[in-house]
Amino acid sequence: MSVNDQPSDPRESTVVDDVAKQLLVDGKWRPATGGGTFPVEDPSTTTTLCSVADATSDDALEALAAADRAQSSWAAHPPRERGEILRRAFETITSRHEDLALLMTLEMGKPLAESRAEITYAAEFFRWFAEEAVRIDGDYTVSPNGRGRVLVLRQPVGPALMVTPWNFPMAMGTRKIGPAVAAGCTMVMKPAHQTPLTMLALGDILTEAGLPDGVLNIVTAHGAGSVMRPMIEDGRARKLTFTGSTPVGRKLIEQSAGQVLNVSMELGGNAPFLVFDDADVDAAVDGAMLAKMRNVGEACTAANRFYVHDSVAEEFTRKLTERMEALHVGRGVDDGIEVGPLIDAGQLDKVVELVDDAVAKGARVETGGSRGDGQGHYYLPTVLTGVPSSARMTREEIFGPVAPITTFTEEHEATAAANDTEFGLVSYVYTRDVQRALRISETLQAGMVGLNQGVVSNAAAPFGGVKHSGIGREGGKVGIDEYLETKYVAVGGL
Ligand code: NAP
Repeated sequence: MSVNDQPSDPRESTVVDDVAKQLLVDGKWRPATGGGTFPVEDPSTTTTLCSVADATSDDALEALAAADRAQSSWAAHPPRERGEILRRAFETITSRHEDLALLMTLEMGKPLAESRAEITYAAEFFRWFAEEAVRIDGDYTVSPNGRGRVLVLRQPVGPALMVTPWNFPMAMGTRKIGPAVAAGCTMVMKPAHQTPLTMLALGDILTEAGLPDGVLNIVTAHGAGSVMRPMIEDGRARKLTFTGSTPVGRKLIEQSAGQVLNVSMELGGNAPFLVFDDADVDAAVDGAMLAKMRNVGEACTAANRFYVHDSVAEEFTRKLTERMEALHVGRGVDDGIEVGPLIDAGQLDKVVELVDDAVAKGARVETGGSRGDGQGHYYLPTVLTGVPSSARMTREEIFGPVAPITTFTEEHEATAAANDTEFGLVSYVYTRDVQRALRISETLQAGMVGLNQGVVSNAAAPFGGVKHSGIGREGGKVGIDEYLETKYVAVGGL
């Protein structure tokens, strides 16, 4: 790989300059109290792109107060109009696709083609929930005794606190904001400190689309805990929705207990990728490239462990290794780049540590296995074979471009190994045997299964995990349920 550390596109500075780098509180952009800021880095060069407002706990509580004040009028806003705001925002995102993709690549590092794909995916949540806003149903039934009536209403849960990670800077936000807007909840959103710019740009788009003041407030901060904890413990928020790592999710569930907040948790993964002897190996390699290399491996859905049947292991490994070796690594803004840098020095060090640990325990490096060149946080696409179950990467999320392969002989060995993890977000299965496909899909302990498919993300489908991968679902018909409470009215006197 050779990396160009210089700006490649004259629009790079323009798209960054165009973003309001302030807090969005009660419909107004303003600096943090005391004027504090923190830097945002371009992970492909380690240079600073810009600085954004560093909110204090007072700023956070002011944002929550604005969300609280706006809640009752927003809940009464006609659902059709709430949907139309989302629809307009969908149209704007689509028309600003290229600039938003460039902005995302600059702060997150993924190649432009992947940022474009994420913008499309992110916008789909607004289109989907624009349609769902007018389909919030209820119920009216006769009591079994024939005298009373059971009336069931669904109402917005109330002000929602939202925390998102850096790996999908827009989609992880629209997957929460879309249903909250549709349901009539107000929000305080805190994006990850590495990637605040895309969320700030989204705030601008929603304001332009007609979202009333105070409905969406955005607080950017370097110290996440110091702004989130006061809001969680305050009592005015009624919901906390979090996407991020399992350890932070656990901490936030504990903090939410004091106010008995309604929580939704989209947490870490450790996805197994099973290839059976009857699989179409070429299709499995295509799927593996997507499941492993989408987002440079920095996805909760990333295939973390490959279990391949003995009879096809040599062919699968050879073809996967060839594909990984052929990938172009470099600045995501450059033409033809397929693999960008990792998000920061800490993430790069973690990948180095996990690979070194596996190799020390007997794994063989088929390709890669080391850092890349250049100033940025690059790691080479890597395939490891003979990875023992004692290797840390079989239990921990790698979050990098590393594919560890282990072989198996019997179906039950593969499913037992796949389920031998505290996580349960997604599993991938490649087989042409319909009975086996269904049997294994039922056996796998995961919220989602990719059956002969390397990507499961879809705004129309319920996304989420079991076990330590989370609580609740985002997207699909059930996605709006996370933002609604059920109220029962016992109707008498008939
Ligand atoms: P992270 O460290 O847990 O951070 C996620 C978010 O939580 C960031 O906004 C972070 O803010 C904030 N945060 C950190 N500590 C906090 C605290 N004490 N109180 C309140 N907020 C806090 O995770 P990450 O490294 O950004 O993201 C990667 C993880 O997210 C992986 O485990 C991945 O699997 C998971 N993920 C899951 C899904 C899913 O749908 N299941 C989707 C995407 C990612 P700062 O940035 O300021 O630290």
